[in-house]
Amino acid sequence: MDEKFNPFAIAQQQIDKVAEKLGLDPAVHELLRWPMQEIKVTLPVKMDDGNTRIFHAFRVQYNTARGPAKGGIRWHPQETIDTVRALAAWMTWKTSVVDIPLGGGKGGIICNPKELSETEKERLARAYIRALARSLGVTKDVPAPDVYTTPQIMAWMMDEYEKIMGESHPGVITGKPIAIGGSMGRGDATARGGIYVTKEAAAAFEMDLKGKTMAVMGFGNAGQNAALLGEEILGLRLVAASDSKGGVYNPKGIDARALVDYKIKNGTLKGFPDTEDITNQELLELDVTVLFPAALENVILKENAPRIKCKICCELANGPTTPEADAILNDKGILVLPDFLANAGGVTVSYFEQVQNAYNLYWELQEVHWRLEKKMRRAFKSVHEMSQTNKLPLREAAYLVAVARVAEACRLRGWV
Ligand code: GLU
Repeated sequence: MDEKFNPFAIAQQQIDKVAEKLGLDPAVHELLRWPMQEIKVTLPVKMDDGNTRIFHAFRVQYNTARGPAKGGIRWHPQETIDTVRALAAWMTWKTSVVDIPLGGGKGGIICNPKELSETEKERLARAYIRALARSLGVTKDVPAPDVYTTPQIMAWMMDEYEKIMGESHPGVITGKPIAIGGSMGRGDATARGGIYVTKEAAAAFEMDLKGKTMAVMGFGNAGQNAALLGEEILGLRLVAASDSKGGVYNPKGIDARALVDYKIKNGTLKGFPDTEDITNQELLELDVTVLFPAALENVILKENAPRIKCKICCELANGPTTPEADAILNDKGILVLPDFLANAGGVTVSYFEQVQNAYNLYWELQEVHWRLEKKMRRAFKSVHEMSQTNKLPLREAAYLVAVARVAEACRLRGWV
C-alpha cells in the first residue's frame, strides 16, 4: 500500500498534529499513537463444498482509558492490520467526542462476503468469536456491525459467545436484531446521527437546507438511511446515489424510498427508472448542497478535491478524505463534518443498546431518538465552540476535544 494512503499512517499524522496543538506530554502522545493491544487470528472454516478455507482476521483494542474497547467488525477483501488499527484509533476519538464511557476498538476479517453463502458466513462468524472470546466481553471489548457485517452476523456471534460462556451476555455485542436484545433505532443510527449533526451545522452557519440537493456515495446501511433521513428530516432532495458498481443521477430528484426498495430488490442501483448512469468520481464532483461520502476510506484525494463543489461534506464513512484533500476542501470554504463526529450516531446507539441490555429494560423508539439527538447536538456544540475559539476547521477542533478527553483519562489512571 502506498504509505500516503495507509490509513494508520494518516491516523498517526492526525494525532501528531493534535499533540502539538494540545501540547501533549510526550509519553501520552506516544501512547496515543499506538494500539494498546492487537490480536491476529487465523481461522480454518469449512466451506459448503466440504473444503476448508483459511481466513485471516484481526481485533485491535486501541485505547481503553475511557472504558472498554468498542467498535465494529468489517468483512472486506482488502482488509489489513493497518486499516483496522486506523479504524480502532478513530473509534477512540469517536466515543470520546460524543462523550460515552467507552474506548476504541475495531475488528476485521479478510474475506469477500459476496462470495460466501449464508451458512459459510455463519461458520466464519462463529469461528471469529471462538478464537477471540477470551478477549471480548461487556467489560473488555464490545464489537458491532460495520462494512458488510449485519445484525444477523451479530446474532450468530453473540450466540457463539454465550455458548462458550454458558450464560446470557447480550451486551457483549451491539447492533443485534431487536428480537434478541437489539435496540430500537440502531438500524439507522449512523445516518441519523450524521443528519442531526448536519442540522446543527446548518443552523450554526445559517444555511437553509430545505429543498436543496444531496448526493450519496455508498448505498449500504449508512448511505440508504442518509438518503431517507436527509429527505425526511432536512428536506433535502436526492439527486444522485452510488454503490461499489456505480450510480444513478437525476438533477430533478430521485425518490429515496423507491431507490432503497429498488436496491434491496435488485442488489444494484443501475437501471433505476428516469435516471442516467454516473460514476462514483462524477458523483463526488456534483454541484450539490450536501455530499454524503458513505462508503470506504480514501475517496476524496488531492487529485479530485479541487473539483468538489458541495457546500457541506458530511463524512458518514470512516476516513473518506485524505489530509491533503482535507486542506483543499477547507481552503475552498467547504464545511466538512468530520467522520468521527458525523458518523458517531451508530456507536452512540450501540452504547444505548448496552445500557438497555444491562438493565434488561428496553426503550421506545422516540426515547432513542431524543437521546441520540441530545448527544449529537452536545458533541457538535463542543466541537463548534472549540473551532470558533481557536479559529480551526471542525475536524481539528473535534480532534482537540476528543484527544484531550482521552489524554485526561490516561493521566487520571496514572498511566503517564
Ligand atoms: N461500526 C460503527 C462505527 O464505525 C459502529 C461501531 C459500534 O457501534 O460499536 O462507528
